Amino acid sequence: MTTGGLHALQSWLAHEVDERDLELVCAEHPDPSPGEPDRTVVRLSACVRDVAAHELVELLLVGAHSVAVRLDGCSDPAAGAARVDPVVRMLRAGGVDRVTVETDDPAEARRTVLEADGLPVPRRLLLGLAGGVARTLPVPDDDPHTRLVSAVRALVPTATRELTELDAPSLRLTGHGCTACDVCVLACPPGALRIQHGSGGGGIAISTLLQTPAACTGCRSCIDLCPTGVLGAVGPWPWSELLVDREVGVATLTTARCERCGTSFPTTSGNRCCPTCTYRRSNPFGSALPPGFTMPGTDIRDVRMLERGHLGELSAEPSSLDVDGRQRPVEPAG
Ligand code: SF4
Ligand code: SF4
Repeated sequence: MTTGGLHALQSWLAHEVDERDLELVCAEHPDPSPGEPDRTVVRLSACVRDVAAHELVELLLVGAHSVAVRLDGCSDPAAGAARVDPVVRMLRAGGVDRVTVETDDPAEARRTVLEADGLPVPRRLLLGLAGGVARTLPVPDDDPHTRLVSAVRALVPTATRELTELDAPSLRLTGHGCTACDVCVLACPPGALRIQHGSGGGGIAISTLLQTPAACTGCRSCIDLCPTGVLGAVGPWPWSELLVDREVGVATLTTARCERCGTSFPTTSGNRCCPTCTYRRSNPFGSALPPGFTMPGTDIRDVRMLERGHLGELSAEPSSLDVDGRQRPVEPAG
C-alpha cells in the first residue's frame, strides 16, 4: 500500500548507488531551487501533510542519507508540521537524527528540482543493471502500521530511554471480567489479539487473552465490540514496546470446555456445559420453535412494524400486512 508520490521516489532511490541528502517540498512550492547545493531537491506530487509517516521513515532505508522537509512553500505549513513533527520526534527519541523540518526560506545556490511524479530513469537502469536494485524496497502490500514499525525497528535496533516515554499508536488494554468469548479476537483487524487456553485437568483450563502491542494500531474495534463491555484501554503503549515481538496478558480466567458443543466458557462452579447448551437442555423445544409460531419481534414483518411504531397484537398467524406495512390483497376464496 503506498500513498502520494513516495513509492516512486523510494524505487528511484533504491536503484541509485549513492545515498542522497533529500530535500522534500510541497507540490505548491513556487520555486524550491535556492538552497543548500549538496541536496537532491524533490517536489512532491501532493502536500507534505498527505505524506504517510511510514513512507517518510522508509526513505532512510532505501537510499536517503537524510531527509529535510521544507515547509516554507507549503500552503498549510501547520498541517505539514503536524504530519512530520511526530516522525521527527519519534526518530530522535530512538537516536536517529536524519529527518528534519525546515520553515525558513533558504537563499543560496540554485539547484535542479526533481518532480516526484516525473523522476529521471535511475542510473543503474540506464547501465543495464535493472535486475539488481542497490537497496531492498519495503513490501508494498503490508499495511502502513506494519511498515512504520518495521522501518523504525530497522533504524532503531534497541530501545532508548526516550522511546520508553514516547506514546505509540497502540493501546494498552485491560479486560477484568473477560468471558473469553473471542469477539475481540475476531474483530481485531491486524490480528493483535488471541486467547490461549492452557491445558488443565478435567476439562478446566486457565485461559488468557493476549495482545501483541507491536501489531496494535489503536483502532478500538475490540473495545467497541466487546459484548460484556469489560475491555478498555489504560493508555497508549510507549514506542519501546513496539520494537520487540512479544505478547502481554490482558485478562486471565478459568474456563471449561463444553462437553456438548466444545466451546470454552468461563466457569467457577465446575459446570461442564456452557450456558447456551445448559439452556437448550432445560428447554424442551431446544432452539427450534413449535410449527407456526413466530417469536415476537423476530419476524421480519414484526421488525419492520416495530421500526415504524405501529405493531399491534403479535400473532401466530401470518401478518395481514406486507413487509412495508401495506395491507396485503385478499386472496379469492377457492
Ligand atoms: S485497538 Fe484495534 S488493533 Fe488494537 S487490539 Fe484492539 S482491535 Fe486490535
Ligand atoms: S475482552 Fe470482551 S470481547 Fe474479548 S474475549 Fe473478553 S469478553 Fe470477549
